[in-house]
Amino acid sequence: MRKTNIHKLCSACKSRSAFFSRVYSGERLCKKCFIDSIESKVKNTINKYKMFRFDDRIAVALSGGKDSLSLLHILSKTEEKQQNSSIIAVIVDEGIKDYRDEALKIAISNCKQLGVDYKIVSFADLYGLTLDEIIARRKSNDNLSSCAFCGVLRRKAINYAARLVDANKVATGHTLDDEVQTILLNIFNGDTSRLITGRPVSDAIHPCFVQKVKPLCKIPEIECALYAYVKNIQFQDTPCPYSSEALRNDVRSMLNYMEQKHAGTKFTVFKTIEKIRPSLIQLNKKKLFRNCSGCGEPASSDLCKACEMIKRVS
Ligand code: SF4
Ligand code: ZN
Ligand code: ZN
Repeated sequence: MRKTNIHKLCSACKSRSAFFSRVYSGERLCKKCFIDSIESKVKNTINKYKMFRFDDRIAVALSGGKDSLSLLHILSKTEEKQQNSSIIAVIVDEGIKDYRDEALKIAISNCKQLGVDYKIVSFADLYGLTLDEIIARRKSNDNLSSCAFCGVLRRKAINYAARLVDANKVATGHTLDDEVQTILLNIFNGDTSRLITGRPVSDAIHPCFVQKVKPLCKIPEIECALYAYVKNIQFQDTPCPYSSEALRNDVRSMLNYMEQKHAGTKFTVFKTIEKIRPSLIQLNKKKLFRNCSGCGEPASSDLCKACEMIKRVS
């Protein structure tokens, strides 16, 4: 009987009841210690990768989902304390009817609650088309998924928005799950150069690119969701209508299955790629950026990826 009670206590404070069991580490945590552990893990990641300086202007890329909103709540607590640093949210309206409208409202309401300024940019303004219109125009033999279009155009939009608000860093809510899924997707697609660019802190490879950092890259998605629930953070939990098309869903299911059977699998993949990344960087060092002949932004070939996408549906 006594043994059972001990097992129900938080393994960190040893006084409150545990509500969460972190299988990969063996910890059992109460709500307070769980919140503290997430926030200190994020701080450790920020310090380990030297993500921020004391005087950064940080643009947090906000989608309205649990990950980016948790990040905003954490950074507004930690980074805003730095005397000369400031946070602003950048929100991209891709133009996904009903879905994105709800997300925008939620994102804005969180910004107001935290007293964080925000800037919205839209696909319609930047590219002359909403994502819904792009998908409707996609040719029937085009094998690119909606998410492939959205991902490229969204990355460019976030970078553009960050420049508009004079940010020198963009913080995104990519979790451990996102990172590991992307690693496997790039391997499945044979894309070694993207294994490099997907690191927790991006290189300043071109003056037009605002440096990107991923403070949640070591937080499993499920813990991010739990953090948002426990902290009562309002977020959008309805899925995007295009999400079922993504190959990423299959990779997610596969990784979740592996994690359930072999706790720690996701961390192992993450650490493995961290180890081999320096060698891959050496291999790809010669890649040069020029200016896109369509929009003037950095590009690795004549047209940047975003202009290539718009050309496909024009
Ligand atoms: Fe864009 Fe795909 Fe995410 Fe929907 S699920 S917002 S289409 S990347
Ligand atoms: Zn505790
Ligand atoms: Zn371009």
